[in-house]
Amino acid sequence: MALAYIGLGSNLADPQAQIIAALKQLALLEHCLISDVSSLYFSRPMGPQDQPDYMNAVVAIETSLSPIELLEQLQSIENKAGRIRKDNRWGARILDLDILLYDQQMINTERLTVPHYGLKLREFVLLPLAEIAKELTLPDGDSVKILAQQIEKNGLKVHSKLR
Ligand code: ATP
Ligand code: MG
Ligand code: MG
Repeated sequence: MALAYIGLGSNLADPQAQIIAALKQLALLEHCLISDVSSLYFSRPMGPQDQPDYMNAVVAIETSLSPIELLEQLQSIENKAGRIRKDNRWGARILDLDILLYDQQMINTERLTVPHYGLKLREFVLLPLAEIAKELTLPDGDSVKILAQQIEKNGLKVHSKLR
């Protein structure tokens, strides 16, 4: 079994309900067991500012799926939630499920970059990740706790507990 961390985000169609529904879908995935869930956070949009604020969370999943199989399952959950892929990068979305980490693997293929390339740059990823994985170190040796302490918070707020 591998331990993977998944970042969840939504800023359309009742984001809180989207995140909760996505957690239920993740819990139903075969060969996956949710082992931890962060709080739900409010965050400001990255990139285009003419879009609603986001809600984010991070979950830890024990899985026997390969990284690419996991990506396919996550994209299927995004599609079922009604995500429409547009050309505008970082535009509003119903649901985004990104693989942040997959054990200590480093993957660089056309379809998959792990650790997620935005992990160290995004407060809405680092803080929920540090909440559930205080002692975690990244494959490059950086401490998630220290990265989370150092990053600009950009208005990030805890909204509520998810479990
Ligand atoms: P960002 O990647 O900056 O967070 P995004 O999540 O909105 O933006 P998507 O439209 O969800 O981007 O995904 C675009 C592509 O990114 C996907 O088709 C997928 O193949 C690729 N991808 C690469 N690495 C990852 C990863 N670690 N997790 C999820 N998707 C990834
Ligand atoms: Mg993303
Ligand atoms: Mg994505």
